[in-house]
Amino acid sequence: MVELDSSSYCAFHYENSSDGECSNCGLNICNFDQDYDVQANRLCKLCFNITKAKPRIKYIQIGIWVVVIALVVIIWSTVENGLWYALLPLLLILLVPYGMRPYIMKSYFKGLEPKESVLPILRYFEASGNLDHYKLFLKFLKKMTDEDIKAINEKLYEFLVPALSFNYSKLPENWQEKITSHLRITSDDLVNILTQKYRSVLIQTAVHSAQSNISMFIFYLSETADDEKLIADYIKEITSPEIMKLDTEEVNAIYKKLLEDLYLYDEKFYEYCDNLGLKKEKELISQLIEKFVPPPVPKNQLEAVMSPEQLVEKRKKEIDTSSQPGKIEESEIPELKFTGDK
Ligand SMILES: [Zn+2]
Ligand SMILES: [Zn+2]
Repeated sequence: MVELDSSSYCAFHYENSSDGECSNCGLNICNFDQDYDVQANRLCKLCFNITKAKPRIKYIQIGIWVVVIALVVIIWSTVENGLWYALLPLLLILLVPYGMRPYIMKSYFKGLEPKESVLPILRYFEASGNLDHYKLFLKFLKKMTDEDIKAINEKLYEFLVPALSFNYSKLPENWQEKITSHLRITSDDLVNILTQKYRSVLIQTAVHSAQSNISMFIFYLSETADDEKLIADYIKEITSPEIMKLDTEEVNAIYKKLLEDLYLYDEKFYEYCDNLGLKKEKELISQLIEKFVPPPVPKNQLEAVMSPEQLVEKRKKEIDTSSQPGKIEESEIPELKFTGDK
């Protein structure tokens, strides 16, 4: 098949080459996409729908407030000792928008076929990790015909691999079951597709765009596919000269999540290195772990509201003003698992 550069095809119409970008979100669009905002900027269908939905959402919010205030007044004035009951309608202000979220998001995809929506929603999910996006993706996937899936197959997996590996730790337990049934393939097929056909996308994503716990995804796939070489390839990419040549500051800035995984699961990495005969790589991994600077853990209420960057600055100043080196205490380490930021 002809290899299309990802920059040249439309994000909504995978079979069509792109002739421009959405002026709001930057997604590629094509001559099928002729939506414009009031300033005549060309928009993708999603941004167009979102812009249109905004005033409607505002009216709904005002409507909820009107209903809530009316209910409060009615209950207060008619029910005996009604003060407490009168406060109950206030819950609606929280519950109604929460319940409406899936419908609002669905309205953003109005006018788009499932096959036109499936790639953009995957990109959304990849970037946001929002499970509402994931659920909507499953919905679109389920509605696609066999022909649709066949036609979009290549692109679908190209988008799916990073979206899954990015958000592996957030996926619900039955993710594999759901996705394979909607893709109309078996679990073995999926694992094989990920580890064979999209192996390099998978490893590149896992190393160069790592997210928390991504190594668990690789270990899981390797064990499921009975493919130990996957881990060897993964470890070799981690210890490639491109990464090893970086100094402490650079490697912490670019590969923070990867270092975090190495640090948290060091035993597991060393064990794999031993089993796979990767002696040199084992040494390199321990060098990388030594370079890892864990984010500081707040010590009091005041620090708890500071951003990780502010905390780092504060610690640096503390180190400067005291002779004590800024050593991380052993007891603070488990907290790391919960410091995943976006
Ligand atoms: Zn857009
Ligand atoms: Zn298009």
